[in-house]
Amino acid sequence: MTRLDRTNCEEAFRRLDDFLDRRLTPDEMRIIQEHLDICAWCTREFSFEASVLQGVKRKVRQLDAPTDLVSKILSQLPPEQEGQS
Ligand SMILES: [Zn+2]
Repeated sequence: MTRLDRTNCEEAFRRLDDFLDRRLTPDEMRIIQEHLDICAWCTREFSFEASVLQGVKRKVRQLDAPTDLVSKILSQLPPEQEGQS
């Protein structure tokens, strides 16, 4: 069984939302980034999630909605994972 640095796929995945939302510490960001550099599967999953997220955010911004409503919706993204807090 190969251990990938300190971060395996499960660890990386648990931090996916926070990573995309830049809510991790610089150190955590670096660890995830290093894992993505060596793990093709996670890279694919991460970029898929990122593109979905980008699409949603773009759509929200295109809505002709009050600014505070838009920012309220944007602040809800990405959704929190169950059991994570
Ligand atoms: Zn991985």
